[in-house]
Amino acid sequence: MFILKGKILRFTKEIINPVKIILLSILFLVLVILIKYKPVYLVTLSGKTLGYVTEKSELENKINEYINTREGTVALIDIEVMPEYTLDLVSRNEETKENEILEEVEKTAVITYKTYGVTVNGEVKTEVDTEAKALEIINNLGQDVEEGVDFELGYTEIYTVGENTFASEDEAIGIVSEIKTAKVTEYEEEQARIAAEKAAAEAAAKEAARKAAAAKATYTSTSTTVSGSYGNVNGISISNPLKASALITSRFGERSSSRSSSHTGLDLATSLGTSIYPIASGTVVTASYQGSYGNMIVIDHGNGVQSYYAHCNSINVSVGSSVTIDTVIGTVGSTGNSTGPHLHLEIRINGVAYNPQNYLY
Ligand SMILES: [Zn+2]
Repeated sequence: MFILKGKILRFTKEIINPVKIILLSILFLVLVILIKYKPVYLVTLSGKTLGYVTEKSELENKINEYINTREGTVALIDIEVMPEYTLDLVSRNEETKENEILEEVEKTAVITYKTYGVTVNGEVKTEVDTEAKALEIINNLGQDVEEGVDFELGYTEIYTVGENTFASEDEAIGIVSEIKTAKVTEYEEEQARIAAEKAAAEAAAKEAARKAAAAKATYTSTSTTVSGSYGNVNGISISNPLKASALITSRFGERSSSRSSSHTGLDLATSLGTSIYPIASGTVVTASYQGSYGNMIVIDHGNGVQSYYAHCNSINVSVGSSVTIDTVIGTVGSTGNSTGPHLHLEIRINGVAYNPQNYLY
């Protein structure tokens, strides 16, 4: 038993010495390593080696700090690929590259920018970098706009990935002002046009009233010698010779450059071939070509009243025919001294021409 103990003891002693030596060697080696080398992290990004950093957490903090930057129009910074770290020992002379590595990491960032679009009638016209500027533009340019001008200002948040574009406040004001000016001009022109149309309509109404009054006055002055009223000449009941619509192109008594004497009838322009009816029943006394009158029909209605229909395209009756207000006596044409299809209508009483508008139209 004792012998065994002694054996063990000796054996242990023999073991202790090599262990000590090994431990001392390791310690020595570590010291040498620590004097010559330093522990660092090798940083790689998507498989690409960027360099060494001393503190892993320091770089991580800087990256986080960068991601959380909210300067200017930056709304969001997204770094999709984070760097990878490998512990390494390098010579103490080896420089670490914290800043360069951070820059490389930042290059991979996807930045989302937020700007404020100034809208006119809901459409973005320009962008500025702050909400305050957008509001200022809206407040300044939105004033003194007359109601009715098609100019509604607003703003909207715009997020753009990777592109940071916005106008300076002055530029934005310039753009919106230009649109405002155009809209105001457009509105004013429209108002002027409406006013002009209204004035023209009023003038036309005035003119029509004046003509009606003048026609009435003519009637009054002639009524001393000719008895009659609207639709009645010297006791003869009359009606319009055209059932189709017609435009009065020349009135009784008017002179034109093509005519040296006073106009003895009423010109009613309408399409070629329109049926002509007598203004009252009677007997045809003329139905032939009569110089500047062209094809002309004259109907005697009795009581000294005769009606003339000139420039006819065709004559459907002959002298001696009896006609009623339903007889198509001819059609509208442009024969004789005429510039276009129209009916020249005359009403004569005892051979004297009277204004047909005293009785018709
Ligand atoms: Zn005429």
